[in-house]
Amino acid sequence: MERYWNAEMECMDRDSLETLQSYRLMRTVRRVYDNVPLYRERMDAAGVKPEDIRSIKDLHKLPFTYKQDLRDTYPYGLFAVPMNQVVRVHASSGTTGKKIVVGYTANDLDMWSECCARALTAAGADNTDFMHVSYGYGLFTGGFGVHGGAEKVGMTVIPVSTGNSKQQINVLKDFGSTFICCTPSYALSLAETMAEMGVTKDDIKLRAGLFGAEPWTEEMRRDIEQKLGIKAMDIYGLTEIMGPGVAFECSEQTGMHINEDHFIPEIIDPDTGEVLPEGAQGELVFTCISKEAFPMLRYRTRDIVTLERGVCSCGRTFVKMKKPAGRSDDMLIIRGVNVFPSQIESVLLSLGNTAPYYQIIVDRVNNNDTFEIQVEISPDMFTDTVGNLEEQTKRIREAVHTTLGIQAKITLVEPKSIPRAEGKSVHVIDRRKLH
Ligand code: ADP
Ligand code: ZN
Repeated sequence: MERYWNAEMECMDRDSLETLQSYRLMRTVRRVYDNVPLYRERMDAAGVKPEDIRSIKDLHKLPFTYKQDLRDTYPYGLFAVPMNQVVRVHASSGTTGKKIVVGYTANDLDMWSECCARALTAAGADNTDFMHVSYGYGLFTGGFGVHGGAEKVGMTVIPVSTGNSKQQINVLKDFGSTFICCTPSYALSLAETMAEMGVTKDDIKLRAGLFGAEPWTEEMRRDIEQKLGIKAMDIYGLTEIMGPGVAFECSEQTGMHINEDHFIPEIIDPDTGEVLPEGAQGELVFTCISKEAFPMLRYRTRDIVTLERGVCSCGRTFVKMKKPAGRSDDMLIIRGVNVFPSQIESVLLSLGNTAPYYQIIVDRVNNNDTFEIQVEISPDMFTDTVGNLEEQTKRIREAVHTTLGIQAKITLVEPKSIPRAEGKSVHVIDRRKLH
């Protein structure tokens, strides 16, 4: 039976939702125009006045904002309220370049917790559950974000943060955690540590987890579900818009509902900026319509996704986004072919037999791109004969070629030789950038 944190919002009919969105959009646009120089200058330059925005149908008239805008106004230049109303700041973990800083008022924190409470409730959590948070606490939004949501739900929160995996397993066991939240790669790393310690999934009480902050595939989901004996749900967010909880999965597990009463999504062509029709794949753009301290207008996330508006069996009316294939700036162009690391993860996991640890190494030699995938073999393969390993290399090479249309050099490496991530994993080493 599907449960909701806030059925009135989550299941609102489209007309009412659009009316609410239009009202909130108009108010936000007026407020940022009056309070944030960058928005005022940019809207003036585009010839758009706040009064030109009368409903969500006018959204496309607004100029885009970019990550570079946050860097240029570092640290507080885009804040829309005086600093004495800002009760918390966070900063991006800096996966791609210089840190960016965002802020929250008390109302913003409450709204954020509500979004995460919706995600946790959709995953089946209630106030009898124990929530093990192994997202990092600190400037990164992960830990504090889901922490607030779990407290709102009334769960017993265990704020473990990242690191010291053995200790984490002991806490899982002794404290009776029923829910866990971390990056999907750390979930697998914990499963690996569990096995090494001789702890089985029957020794722990975990029944579900919310995983996000990096792309992960359906194959990886099955792997996590099987190894930890849980239901693995996806949760999406980004620092610039709020943190985790911008979108979350329901029991159907076929995409993440976007909290549309707070964030309006659009899909655009990343090259032309043109808004794409329903169902098309493109860059996800968000407009915040209820935030006070840091409301972004038409923010270019660089995440490549598709949106799906059909009826969901869970009863929620919020639009669903498909798992992001990755960011447009994560996409590699190797010998002219577009390659997302997630495609390689899919190939490796679908072949079975290999551990999902891999690293892509790209370089340029004599003006040609070199493309190597180092794949960690699982401990049971390690005992295999040389012939088997050769066979395995060939299978991977052929599967990669079939999926991507280009040849890669496959190198099998020893178990545990690829570094384990506690937060977001690093799958790509692009040496071309150093030349
Ligand atoms: P940084 O930009 O430094 O990595 P963030 O934590 O703000 O810091 O990263 C947000 C980004 O992480 C998103 O834009 C998206 O690319 C990725 N991300 C977050 N959640 C998911 C998810 N569930 N699936 C895929 N990618 C995700
Ligand atoms: Zn649903």
